[in-house]
Amino acid sequence: MFDVIIAGCGPTGAMLAAELRLHDVRVLVLEKETEPASFVRIVGLHIRSLELMAMRGLLERILEHGRQRPAGGFFAAINKPVPKSLDSGHAYLLGIPQPVIVRLLEEHAIQLGAQVRRGRAVAGFEQDDDGVTVELADGEQVRSRYLVGCDGGRSTVRKLLGVGFPGEPTRAETLMGEMEVGVPQDEIAATVARIRETQHRFWLRPVGVGVYSVVVPAAGVSDRAQPPTLEDFKQQLRTIAGTDFGVHSPRGLSRFGDATRLAERYRVGRVLLAGDAAHIHPPIGGQGLNLGVQDAVNLGWKLAAQIRGWAPATLLDTYQIERRPVAEDVLDNTRAQTELLSTEPGPQAVRRLLTELMDFDEVNRYLIEKITAIGIRYDFGAGPDLLGRRLRDIDVKQGRLYGLLHRGRGLLLDRTERLTVGGWADRVDHLADPTAALDVPGVLLRPDGHVAWIGDDQQDLDEHLSRWFGEPAI
Ligand SMILES: Cc1cc2nc3c(=O)[nH]c(=O)nc-3n(C[C@H](O)[C@H](O)[C@H](O)COP(=O)(O)OP(=O)(O)OC[C@H]3O[C@@H](n4cnc5c(N)ncnc54)[C@H](O)[C@@H]3O)c2cc1C
Repeated sequence: MFDVIIAGCGPTGAMLAAELRLHDVRVLVLEKETEPASFVRIVGLHIRSLELMAMRGLLERILEHGRQRPAGGFFAAINKPVPKSLDSGHAYLLGIPQPVIVRLLEEHAIQLGAQVRRGRAVAGFEQDDDGVTVELADGEQVRSRYLVGCDGGRSTVRKLLGVGFPGEPTRAETLMGEMEVGVPQDEIAATVARIRETQHRFWLRPVGVGVYSVVVPAAGVSDRAQPPTLEDFKQQLRTIAGTDFGVHSPRGLSRFGDATRLAERYRVGRVLLAGDAAHIHPPIGGQGLNLGVQDAVNLGWKLAAQIRGWAPATLLDTYQIERRPVAEDVLDNTRAQTELLSTEPGPQAVRRLLTELMDFDEVNRYLIEKITAIGIRYDFGAGPDLLGRRLRDIDVKQGRLYGLLHRGRGLLLDRTERLTVGGWADRVDHLADPTAALDVPGVLLRPDGHVAWIGDDQQDLDEHLSRWFGEPAI
C-alpha cells in the first residue's frame, strides 16, 4: 500500500514525488518507458522554476548542466533587453536539455526515498472511499490512497477519468532534430538571420562541434504516423532557405504540434492531474515544463497534508482553484504569441506596435513576469499587493531566505519578535528578527513560498495558520 502513485516520471512526476517525500509520504512512480528519454530538446528554465530549485537546494546541481542567458527577449521572440528592476535574485534563463533536468529531478526524488519503477505503464484504475486500485499494462494491481496523472498530453489517467480536454487542435506542425552540416558556420548564420526575419518557425542553432539543432515547419510532410526522415528536413530546408546546408548524420528527429487544451477539472475524488496531462500549448515562450514543475510544487504539500491528516477541509481543492487559472493564462499568452509570429500583414502590424510598446520598461517587465511566472498572484482575499505572491529570495540573518525552505515547511518571518507559531511548530518554522530587507512586521510563507499572511496581530496570524495548516497540535 502506497500513499500516492504517480503515473509518469517526466519533470512533473519526478518533482511531485520529491515534494511528497519531503513530508514522508510513501510514493511510487510508475513510468511507461524502460529507459530515460534521450530525445533532443533544450528547454528554458524560467525565473520562478529556478527560484523553486533554489528553495529545494537543487539550483547549484542544475546550474552545472545548463547555460545561463539573459531573462529578456523571449515574449513572441521579440528582441528586447532584460527589463530593468526584475524582482528576483535569479533573474536569468537557464537553457538545459530536458532529459538532464528529468534525470536530476528523478535522482533527487529517489534520494529522498521515492520508488520509481520503469517499464510499468498505468492502464486502468478504480477508486473507492479509501483509495485507488491501479492496474498496470501487465495486469498487476497496486493500491494507494491517491493517484496523480503526470503522464503527459495524451494522459491515460485523464482519459480514464473522463475529464474533458477542450481547446484547439493542432493547426501547424513543426519538425525538430539534431544533425551535422556540410557548410561553414558563418554562411549558415547569415542565411538563418535573413530567413528568421519573416519565418519564425525556423532555426539552425549550433549545439556542439559541427552539430546543429534544426527546426522547420512540417508543411507538406504529411504522414503523421511515421517519424520524420532526414529527407523531410532537407526538402523543407531547400523550400525555405534554397539550400539544405549539406545536413547529414541526424539524430532525435521528431515533430510537435501547436494544440492548445486545458483539462476541465484537475481532480476527481482521489485522482488528480498535473503538468501536460492537465494542459498543453505550443512551446513558444518555453513554459510547459515550468508550468508542470510549478503545479507539482503547489500540489505536493497540500496532498501530503491530506495524507498526514492535518489538511483543512478545502486545502486540496485550492490546487485546482490556484493552478487552473495560471494554466489558462499561459494558454492565452501562447495563443497571443502564436498570432504575433504569423507572417500575415495584420498580425505583423500588431507585432510592430507591441515591439514599440515594449520599449516601455513596464510593458516589457509585465510580459516577462508573465512568462517567467514571477508575476503570479493567487487570490487569497483582500490585502496588500504582496499577499498571494511569491516572496523573492532575500538576505536573512541566517543567509538566504530560500535556504530556509529546503524542507518544504511553512515559515513565519517575524520582525516583531513577539509572534509565535504555537501549536503549528511541527509544520511551520519561525524566524525571529529575520532581516531589515523586509518592510512588513510579519509574513507567513506557505511551503511553496507564497505569502499567506502579512501583519503583526497574533490572533489574525492564528486564523491564517488554521486556514493553511489545519488544527494546531495539542
Ligand atoms: C519543441 C518543444 C520545446 C519545448 N521547450 C520548452 C521550454 O523551453 N520550456 C518549457 O518549460 N517547456 C518546453 N516544452 C514543453 C515541455 O517539454 C513539456 O511541457 C513537459 O515535458 C511536460 O512535462 P510532464 O512531466 O508534464 O509530461 P511529459 O514530459 O510528457 O512526461 C510524461 C511521462 O509520463 C510517461 N507516461 C505516459 N503515459 C504513461 C502511462 N500510462 N503510465 C506511466 N507512464 C506514462 C511518459 O513516458 C513520460 O515519461 C517544449 C516542448 C516542445 C515539444
